[in-house]
Amino acid sequence: MTGAPIIAAIETGGTKLLYRVAVADGETLGEGRFETGSPGASVARLTRAIRALVPDGRRLAAVGIASFGPVGIDPSHPSYGKVLATTKPGWSGYDLVGAIKSELEAPIVVDTDVNAAAFAEQAIGAGRGARIVAYLTVGTGIGGGLAIDGTTFKGSPHPEIGHVRLARAPGDDIAGTCPFHADCAEGLIAGPALARRLAGTASLAKTPELLDLAADYLAQLCTTITLAWSPACIVVGGGVLQERDLLERTRDALALHLRGYGTVGALEPAIYLRRAALENAGLEGALLMARALTDHDEN
Ligand code: ADP
Ligand code: ZN
Repeated sequence: MTGAPIIAAIETGGTKLLYRVAVADGETLGEGRFETGSPGASVARLTRAIRALVPDGRRLAAVGIASFGPVGIDPSHPSYGKVLATTKPGWSGYDLVGAIKSELEAPIVVDTDVNAAAFAEQAIGAGRGARIVAYLTVGTGIGGGLAIDGTTFKGSPHPEIGHVRLARAPGDDIAGTCPFHADCAEGLIAGPALARRLAGTASLAKTPELLDLAADYLAQLCTTITLAWSPACIVVGGGVLQERDLLERTRDALALHLRGYGTVGALEPAIYLRRAALENAGLEGALLMARALTDHDEN
């Protein structure tokens, strides 16, 4: 049987796993999600569900994986496709690509969830037309990815921009939630840190002082991204920045932090810091990466 290749995408997260099977020319054959469990059980469920969606007589031509970090994404390094030291129980050292490959017997490409999201937002989302697109997610954790001319910025293993140290605001002495760093962005202002600050008393939307503090910290992080990576835009995702007021205040604070410095001083915060256009940017990116792998194989 012939026809356009059949491809699959997987996004692994700390709480949920998403998958989709599609024809490389665009048609979705099926998709779903599970709660994340142990690595063995999660991969068994995922691969069973994906296999069931591949039409009879066809084989999977490629699988793209957008993985939570830290994960090896350098194809030339022995850590490629392996989950590195993580606090997620049972996942440290797990050979994610090896396990999926032995079940699905297809070529696999893996990247971080945030790189995949940057890749998708650049190709088909809010960063379309921009040469360099940063993606920043603020939710349970904070992570950032970078798409450059239709590829992603990798590393050894990859950047962890959510763990850069921030300058604490005077009087802010609450303990951060990151077990590794006292004052990193994730520990100071990701979802669990916000929950600690709110202590069940009110919502972020109804706490203007906390909105201002969060905006200042996120603007510090965006300043670092801007100075280090110089993207054309920062696309933001994750639950926390869905708070309209927070995005607005972060834009205002970013302009203050950049202080009109050099060429970045001329950027327009309302255009520069933009909301993600895709609902599941990581999964979309994984699918695009799988498709690129089949294009590559055909050449
Ligand atoms: P995940 O990071 O697990 O993919 P989300 O991006 O939805 O999921 O982020 C969930 C985290 O963000 C939780 O810790 C949640 O408490 C926090 N969060 C999301 N929206 C808000 C908000 N408006 N105010 C405070 N915390 C929020
Ligand atoms: Zn940290």
